[in-house]
Amino acid sequence: MRGRGFRAPGTLSADFAPRPVRTTEDMQSQRPPLLEVKRNLDLKTALVKSSRLPLSGSRLKRGPDQMEDALEPAKKRTRGMGAVTKVDTSHPRGPLLSTVSQTQGHTAAQKGPKKTGPRGCSAVGTVLRNQKPAPAAPAQKPGTSAAPVVVGKKPGKRPAWDLKGQLCDLNEELKRYREKTQTLDRENQGLREQLREVQGQATTLGTERDTLKGELASVRTQAEQGQQKLGTLSARVLELEECLGTKESLLQELQEERLQLQEERSTLSTQLEELERRFQASEAALSSSQAEVVCLREKTAAQVTLLAEQGDRLHGLEMERRRLHNQLQELKGNIRVFCRVRPVLAGELTPSPGFLVFPPGPAGPSDPPTRLSLSRSDDRRSTLTGAPAPTTRHDFSFDRVFPPGSKQEEVFEEISMLVQSALDGYPVCIFAYGQTGSGKTFTMEGGPRGDPQLEGLIPRAMRHLFSVAQEMSGQGWTYSFVASYVEIYNETVRDLLATGTRKGQGGECEIRRAGPGSEELTVTNARYVPVSCEREVEALLHLAHQNRAVARTAQNERSSRSHSVFQLQISGEHAARGLQCGAPLNLVDLAGSERLDPGLALGPGERDRLRETQAINSSLSTLGLVIMALSNKESHVPYRNSKLTYLLQNSLGGSAKMLMFVNISPLEENVSESLNSLRFASKVNQCVIGTAQANKK
Ligand code: ADP
Ligand code: MG
Repeated sequence: MRGRGFRAPGTLSADFAPRPVRTTEDMQSQRPPLLEVKRNLDLKTALVKSSRLPLSGSRLKRGPDQMEDALEPAKKRTRGMGAVTKVDTSHPRGPLLSTVSQTQGHTAAQKGPKKTGPRGCSAVGTVLRNQKPAPAAPAQKPGTSAAPVVVGKKPGKRPAWDLKGQLCDLNEELKRYREKTQTLDRENQGLREQLREVQGQATTLGTERDTLKGELASVRTQAEQGQQKLGTLSARVLELEECLGTKESLLQELQEERLQLQEERSTLSTQLEELERRFQASEAALSSSQAEVVCLREKTAAQVTLLAEQGDRLHGLEMERRRLHNQLQELKGNIRVFCRVRPVLAGELTPSPGFLVFPPGPAGPSDPPTRLSLSRSDDRRSTLTGAPAPTTRHDFSFDRVFPPGSKQEEVFEEISMLVQSALDGYPVCIFAYGQTGSGKTFTMEGGPRGDPQLEGLIPRAMRHLFSVAQEMSGQGWTYSFVASYVEIYNETVRDLLATGTRKGQGGECEIRRAGPGSEELTVTNARYVPVSCEREVEALLHLAHQNRAVARTAQNERSSRSHSVFQLQISGEHAARGLQCGAPLNLVDLAGSERLDPGLALGPGERDRLRETQAINSSLSTLGLVIMALSNKESHVPYRNSKLTYLLQNSLGGSAKMLMFVNISPLEENVSESLNSLRFASKVNQCVIGTAQANKK
């Protein structure tokens, strides 16, 4: 900038370099002194008027008078040589400018690097403005090159009379002024040119400055934008650095993972190789196995054929088994009677020895007993004659006799064959007959709950049924079971499985045919519950027990005065062969068979008891009569004479199998009732119901 067409202040000094000072002799040799004085004075006036030198303000403002003042020293010098010396020494223009410009230039040069463009112009202006007289000698440092040295020959002081000499001096001085004026004109011209040049430069620089200002502004804007961008980028850089850090840690983790995976891969490769080896071995084994499979398939096909044949054979055998089983049961008798004597309970009088005797079977003591002897002393005869009471021995024979020590398990073994018959499709009826307290309920349901040893016939029969049904499923038979449990009290039927609002009430139930023309009987309002496992049966027995407890009254143990009938309808199907079989299994706990003492006074409670007893006796007699009628193949069987026989009519006679337990008390005090029971059972035992027919469809 500074170098572009701008002359450094220092360079200006060249224009104002010290000029040689002419000597008085030089001036004298050129013009005649007087003419010269006049001319100089004119010239001086003209110069002053026309001078447009950039003199200092004080100088420029000076008028002609002031000019006169300025010439005053010269006039004075015309009066003495000392004045000339003064003029010489006060001629500082050239040297002063030079000095000032040098000083200024130096200052500007020092300030230069800080300020540009317009500063250069102002420096020039400063230079121009400073072209005024300044104290000359003191400002100069000794030895500086630009210092003006007036090397004038100091003329000696002319005497006053030496007018000619003085005139010469004046001429000389005038000449110097003229020269000086010319020099100054030239300088002025030069300076004007420089000024114009500088102004031009200033204008250019101004334009440049404006341009640069614009550029600067845009650069600043760009810089700000750049700064903002930089900020954004810095934030982004930070973010990316963070991201980089995360990625690096992730990368490290991944590298570690990769190492692990590589290890795993190598392990897996080893395993794979091992597996491949095994696979190849397996393939070899497989191919040999396939050959074997082909061979085995052929064998299997043969086996299947054989199996089918054997299945047919098995079925034939099963049918044969059923037939033989039934034959066996028939040989044993379709009506069988078992006698069971309960043990003497704690607190009961032990009967006298020989009261009850169980003679061994025909095959000796190992043979299960079938006979029972009861000895009864005839008190009436001993009272009449006074002799010791004679004893009468009563012998009874049954299909089986169970002495007091017999276990529930032994009892069940004997009847499990009948349960099988029920599965084979033959109706089965098992009764427990005897006086109250003889052990009927113990035999049918069992002793206190929780002891599996004391379980009665009903739970054991159910378990046996479910187990055999499961076995027979292997032969293609599917069984289903539906249970019901009712009691017949005073010739009314009540449901023992009633729940909810009907619980304990028993509700009035009626025995009806399942449908018009149907042989099947059903009890209205009674629940028929499908069962498939022992637990379900247990729950039903528990419910029946609760229902009985609710119905119990203070005077009357109702369970003893009513018949309880547990019925299980068994349905079997062999889908593959299109076979079906179904039969009911009835387990009946009969009401107490004891008679009412005829000598008892009949109070209101006894009357009810009499009515109950009559109902019981009537139904038990009817049962006996029905069995007799069936045995004698009478045309009329009085099923309808009691609710019990009416309900059981499909399970008595014909194809049905019947088993009666006669329960006996071991006590002597119950001997009469025991004899009655034994006699009733003996009559039943003598009956033979015609060949049973399985209910096959
Ligand atoms: P029932 O039902 O004929 O009226 P229970 O079955 O209620 O008679 O029996 C009367 C009592 O005798 C009950 O306490 C019962 O536990 C008990 N009892 C009956 N038979 C046996 C037996 N075989 N072994 C042990 N206790 C028996
Ligand atoms: Mg009972």
